[in-house]
Amino acid sequence: MAVKENILHFRSALPAHVCLVAVSKTKPAAMLQEAYDAGQRDFGENYVQELVEKQAGLPADIRWHFIGHLQSNKVKYIAPFVHLIHGVDSLSLLKEIDKQGRKNNRVIHCLIQLHIAMEETKFGFSIAEATALLNSKELVAYPNVAIDGFMAMASNTSDEDKIRAEFRQVKNLREQFPAYSVLSFGMSSDYRIAIEEGSTMVRIGSSIFGERNYSLS
Ligand SMILES: *Cc1c(COP(=O)(O)O)cnc(C)c1O
Repeated sequence: MAVKENILHFRSALPAHVCLVAVSKTKPAAMLQEAYDAGQRDFGENYVQELVEKQAGLPADIRWHFIGHLQSNKVKYIAPFVHLIHGVDSLSLLKEIDKQGRKNNRVIHCLIQLHIAMEETKFGFSIAEATALLNSKELVAYPNVAIDGFMAMASNTSDEDKIRAEFRQVKNLREQFPAYSVLSFGMSSDYRIAIEEGSTMVRIGSSIFGERNYSLS
């Protein structure tokens, strides 16, 4: 798999306002280094331990994105260095991130995860819950957290109209809350639709690093 060529391809193909997060979960550090050498700086991981190990051994100017489901008791391990936490799916998690931000004397940037797909297994706030949260004064209580925008995953389907309609819900929410300007949606299979529907941050894994083999990880 030609990681360098894939990075260069995406960096030239994506519009300038769309940030490429290279999703490197399960992939060895040497592959991340190859992407880094091709100019990539934003990397996404979704297991805390794997992220901490990779961060320790790779260049310090990498911006680490945590894109998985984050358990509150693990926030402390990534709080000192994480660039953006994409999957904030509960107030209790937000509260813990704020606490760890204060301990580390920094503001931790986060995205509110929205549940837009039909599948039951996906985490996140419904559009109605997110609207209520953002309209409330609740977030003022967490000065060591900065909410930059929203993250979402569409249903795993080949039905493009369905994917598009799901992404459009995020776009509509963002129109009500323009201050939350970062929209993280779109993966290898659906990033083109995502960008058409207003994504500003795509999370691409297998199209850069190849298919993941979980049995080896
Ligand atoms: C694994 C993962 C991706 C990347 O998926 P690909 O299909 O390999 O591009 C994106 N977002 C999240 C949340 C993921 O867990």
